[in-house]
Amino acid sequence: MAKKGHKYIFVIGGVMSGVGKGVATASIGKVLQANGYKVNLVKVDPYLNVDAGTMNPTEHGETFVLRSGLETDQDMGNYERFLNRDLPEENYVTSGMVYSEVIKRERNLEYDGECVEAIPHVRDEIIRRFQKAASVNGSEISVIEIGGTVGDFQNAMFIEAARVMRAKHPDNVLFIMVTYLPIPSKVGEMKTKPTQNAIRQLNAYGVQPTIVIGRSEEVIDARRKGKIAEQCNIKPDHVISAPDIESIYDVPMNFERDNVSGVVLKELKLKKKKKAGMQKWNAFVRKVHNPKREVNIAVVGKYFDTGDFVLSDAYISVIEAVKFSSYTQGVKPNLAWLNSKDFETGKKKLAALKKYDGVIVPGGFGKTGIEGKIKVIKYIRENKIPYLGLCYGMQLAIVEYARNVAGIKKATTRETDENAERQVISIMEDQKEKLHNKDYGGTMRLGAYPAYLKRGTIARNAYKKELVEERHRHRYEVNPEYVKRLEEAGMVFSGVSPDKKLMEIVELPKSKHPFFLGTQFHPEFQARPLSPHPLFTEFIKATLKRQ
Ligand code: GLN
Repeated sequence: MAKKGHKYIFVIGGVMSGVGKGVATASIGKVLQANGYKVNLVKVDPYLNVDAGTMNPTEHGETFVLRSGLETDQDMGNYERFLNRDLPEENYVTSGMVYSEVIKRERNLEYDGECVEAIPHVRDEIIRRFQKAASVNGSEISVIEIGGTVGDFQNAMFIEAARVMRAKHPDNVLFIMVTYLPIPSKVGEMKTKPTQNAIRQLNAYGVQPTIVIGRSEEVIDARRKGKIAEQCNIKPDHVISAPDIESIYDVPMNFERDNVSGVVLKELKLKKKKKAGMQKWNAFVRKVHNPKREVNIAVVGKYFDTGDFVLSDAYISVIEAVKFSSYTQGVKPNLAWLNSKDFETGKKKLAALKKYDGVIVPGGFGKTGIEGKIKVIKYIRENKIPYLGLCYGMQLAIVEYARNVAGIKKATTRETDENAERQVISIMEDQKEKLHNKDYGGTMRLGAYPAYLKRGTIARNAYKKELVEERHRHRYEVNPEYVKRLEEAGMVFSGVSPDKKLMEIVELPKSKHPFFLGTQFHPEFQARPLSPHPLFTEFIKATLKRQ
């Protein structure tokens, strides 16, 4: 069980979604960590999906893969990046996990013939999961973000579980509401009423928030803080102003201006500890605000458009990884989102790629847009533009090279046609069976696997070590039958699995191309502000050289 006196902070959204509850949660974690506490960050997703692996990235954003292999919400990525450490899979909770566990137990007669109900059985399974998450990594404080907004049907059971925890241990549990204060353009004034109503709605669940974090375009003034305080029984200095800012990495310091950590520690009756401080974090943030140069990077993918909007959420870890490696080198990255389909239809000309200092083809699935990506890769290979291929981006670089350099004209990936003659990217036997049985959820090659790096390669020189561990999420693999032929044509497999069967990194020698590298894994999942990823860093260096 969790350490005695473990503290729980529940973060609940009010008014509307999409106002940065995840970043707020990560930032609360960060400032408590800076105060010397061992912090645990937990995300609750109230949907019935068991994990985030089966969801469409255009709708839901990126699937973030934990070290253990659990496929989670992109907020978990922010949590790891802010805390600068790996989080265990117990820190991700969905309704799907909760209900399937309860139903499994019922089928196994583990409820001793009782009628199995939402209360107490589902509620208690939620509490059990919160306590488990608190216990696995020796932490002292758990900050638990409950997804959705107060008033949703789906998250009510989680709020109820939190309420019961507070009723039992009033000194150990605290609620924070993250709300939104609109400034309607015709009115021209910040309005607090939606926030008041959201807090009252939470009150109707029997929960009183101790702290209210008010997101808005502007700083919340004393008068409005006073209004929320008076109407909703909150101390005025417990209303924290969270105005729009340039970088999410500014948020922890911004919160501290309103003394968030001081209030939390006092309310939870926690003693002041020797501070861990935020010097390194602040040094990074200063670099974000003072770049000396800029680079232009194109990301060629397909999960961009929803209606008339371009959505880059599907690649959030890639974007952040680029930022960490750029800003730490004093560089601001300008990212352009190019839809690979446009290169297929000819809507976009390949020559348009010339103006970029580097190109990334990130992960992806299925047939759509892949011929466009292959065209793009051919062009940047021939024109010596730095290239970083992530997962599908590596597989397609191999298809392109096989077709256009190794002379395997019909080369393709099995993913597009399982009967194709020349599958340079194929599938492992166990995966064939899974696909055949429609056993899709959580069955890819997932999570951390080791790879050995060949001496004298870009990869080995970047990592500066022989053995690395990176996170995966894929079904398909480089077909071992073609490895020799590709090597003879000039490709270097610089990272391989310990049994030498799986190709994990491919690159072209510097004599052939200034920087052309693809990874079967997703290096972006381990890139952090305070430890940028070496492969992204090498890529950015190459883009600077091209300038
Ligand atoms: N679709 C490819 C596979 O399943 C690549 C996956 C990815 O890019 N994450 O192997």
